[in-house]
Amino acid sequence: MADRHSTVLCPGSYDPVTNGHLDIITRSSEVFERVVVCVVNNPMRKDKTLFTAAERKELIEAATAHLGNVEARTFSNLLVEFAREIGAGAIVKGLRAISDFEYEFEMAQLNRKLDPGIESIYMIASPQYSFLSSTGVKEMATFGGDVSDLVPGPVAAAMASRLGER
Ligand code: ADP
Repeated sequence: MADRHSTVLCPGSYDPVTNGHLDIITRSSEVFERVVVCVVNNPMRKDKTLFTAAERKELIEAATAHLGNVEARTFSNLLVEFAREIGAGAIVKGLRAISDFEYEFEMAQLNRKLDPGIESIYMIASPQYSFLSSTGVKEMATFGGDVSDLVPGPVAAAMASRLGER
């Protein structure tokens, strides 16, 4: 038991990683021995991401370099399969609002059906980040809003440069 739950997964799109994601990742790193942040790489998705999966992974690595037990990976298979592959016993996700709850409730039941051995664990968002989403940050930045308080420095720089190319 202690062994199985020593590795957990924090999955997401992370397009891009925000201070809200980092709050969940940091808190997870304080509870579990090894945290693998995994970036969904889904080339089939119609809505295009701002950053490629490899770029999103690099931005997470830059933002978590100070946390010794956190690593970032990309994955393009089923989440429970990827969890088994890397020896993770649980999936940790953040919960912001009731709207998150409805989606997560469904995902947790589906994942449990696929593999009852992989537990889903939820952390309540810290109040100062409970309004924060990657989508909101991208919208703000697109219209020239200041996002420097909402995302790590390298992310703000990467967003400015990517949006400037458009
Ligand atoms: P987003 O909704 O921002 O695009 P992702 O799909 O990348 O998020 O989410 C990855 C995980 O991080 C999910 O569990 C999501 O609920 C959580 N999360 C996202 N933003 C926050 C936040 N501000 N506070 C806490 N958890 C969050």
